[in-house]
Amino acid sequence: MRALRVYATESSTCDPPPRLRCASHGETPWLGHLVCSVCNRTWQTLAPAAPRYALADCACGERLLPDLADHARNFTARPICGSCFYVAGA
Ligand SMILES: [Zn+2]
Ligand SMILES: [Zn+2]
Repeated sequence: MRALRVYATESSTCDPPPRLRCASHGETPWLGHLVCSVCNRTWQTLAPAAPRYALADCACGERLLPDLADHARNFTARPICGSCFYVAGA
């Protein structure tokens, strides 16, 4: 039983992040960075205290994030790679 529990813990923490293919930077792990497909503002979902933390609505007024209660609702966020996020914010 103990061995099983250790294995389950390890497998969940070792899951690789989702991958995304960036036109500029090739295939990279997706670390939670987003871009609004309407206004091209960039956002991050990692740290609420850090700048450009993604809220439900983008600064342009469009719905940025998926609505968990309404999956049919449109949203503008698209994943971008971490390098693109920092370039856009520089
Ligand atoms: Zn926007
Ligand atoms: Zn990139």
